[in-house]
Amino acid sequence: MSVRVRYAPSPTGMQHIGGVRTALFNYFFARAQKGSFILRVEDTDQERTTADALQDLYDTLDWLGIEWDEGPLVGGDHGPYVQSERFSLYQEYAEKLISDGKAYRCFCTPERLSDLREKQVAEKAKQQGYDRHCRNLTDDERSKLESQGLQSVVRLKVPLEGKTTFHDVLMGDITRRNSDVNPDPVLLKSDGFPTYHLANVIDDHLMGISHIMRAQEWIPSGPLHILLYEAFGWEPPIYCHLPMVMGKDGQKLSKRHGSTAVRDFRKKGYLPEALMNYVSMVGWSYDGQREFFTKEELCELFSLEKINKAPGVFDYKKLDWYNGMYIRQKSDEELTELLVPYLQEATFVSEVPTVDELSMVKAIVPVVKERLKVLEDVVEMSRFLFTEIDVPQSSSLIPKKQDAKTTLEVLKQVVPIIKKMANTADEVIEEELVALANGLEIKVNGVFMPIRVAVTGSTISPPLFDSIRLLGLDTAVARLERAISTLENEVA
Ligand code: GLU
Ligand code: ZN
Repeated sequence: MSVRVRYAPSPTGMQHIGGVRTALFNYFFARAQKGSFILRVEDTDQERTTADALQDLYDTLDWLGIEWDEGPLVGGDHGPYVQSERFSLYQEYAEKLISDGKAYRCFCTPERLSDLREKQVAEKAKQQGYDRHCRNLTDDERSKLESQGLQSVVRLKVPLEGKTTFHDVLMGDITRRNSDVNPDPVLLKSDGFPTYHLANVIDDHLMGISHIMRAQEWIPSGPLHILLYEAFGWEPPIYCHLPMVMGKDGQKLSKRHGSTAVRDFRKKGYLPEALMNYVSMVGWSYDGQREFFTKEELCELFSLEKINKAPGVFDYKKLDWYNGMYIRQKSDEELTELLVPYLQEATFVSEVPTVDELSMVKAIVPVVKERLKVLEDVVEMSRFLFTEIDVPQSSSLIPKKQDAKTTLEVLKQVVPIIKKMANTADEVIEEELVALANGLEIKVNGVFMPIRVAVTGSTISPPLFDSIRLLGLDTAVARLERAISTLENEVA
């Protein structure tokens, strides 16, 4: 059997981490099995479908380097791959179900249905949902309603008895009594649009899909889909519902946990290879040990057996760690190219960078490389190099458990030491600063921290001596002197 899998998103919002994980698993599985990866756009809900969301889908897959073998933009033998271009097909298949006695037209008005619902709620009725009112209309009754010009929907005749079982690679057999399945769900709406269930099943069949890997939240639809395959007389595909992606608190990953849109991660400067690697580890592992995989390796090694049954936890800190590791694998040249756009966005570097700007960026890169978690960190780390900093408040200059007077004394003694940096090695300067701390009987940080804040305006910066050298000794000393006057005012 040749493997054919699909990613079938509904473009109603930005691509979500969980969705992309589904895409990746399908893609890797297809590659590992030498099968085909198909992209299908499920835009049956035309009101919620947006052009932005569709563009975001293409951009996201492009950015991650996931190419699809068949689908929109590339075509294929089973197209079109956008459901809104397949509507007549769904209508034909719905007609076929009706003529085979597997589905029927329902003429109930929205008013009747909402009255029914209210009544069921009020009576706390055991059987909620459609009451199958139109299931057994005679031909005469039906023609009469049709001749009145009444609108109709098409509903599936769910068997009244028996059970439906579907097998899931991870979860095993899942069985449901047919009497518990939604009574006669709508397949085709009155405007001729299909519902998700109808379009999804028809397309998976016509596109020759062999395995369905999708989020576990679709498990409840499983029995209904099996009933649809049976109604059509088709063989269902193999199911493998993927464990949920949770936040660290065990709740389904959502905006409460942080960004969930891939676009946001991209903007902050996560590298596609880092995101791909980490997301692949959420709910899958190779041997429980190995953490680093290139796309090519995943395309070779991925297998369904190694998908975890338990929900995957999306840990933002772990992703940062991966991203940092991937950043440090870049050459300085590659990293420069990646960082320049962020510095341009911050207006530190011109649209067409000048020679001076470029040489500054080149000098910064090796210094920040070790500390970047995401590319955009470079902006805050290098702000002090490109812009005049606000004169730090004395409260931020003075370390905890140290007083203003001591801090003032520190900075006064620091100035001549920093001036010597022009012709003295960093190790020597460091020794002198440590000796200064010892002499004043304060912690080393009581010396380094005020210097850092005075020079960079922040407690977080690249390594101190590198920062001072990048800035230039004159500017650094001028900033130290401004800090000294601030503290003098404080002490006075
Ligand atoms: N369009 C559905 C979604 O957005 C597809 C579910 C499936 O893969 O069957 O999740
Ligand atoms: Zn009806």
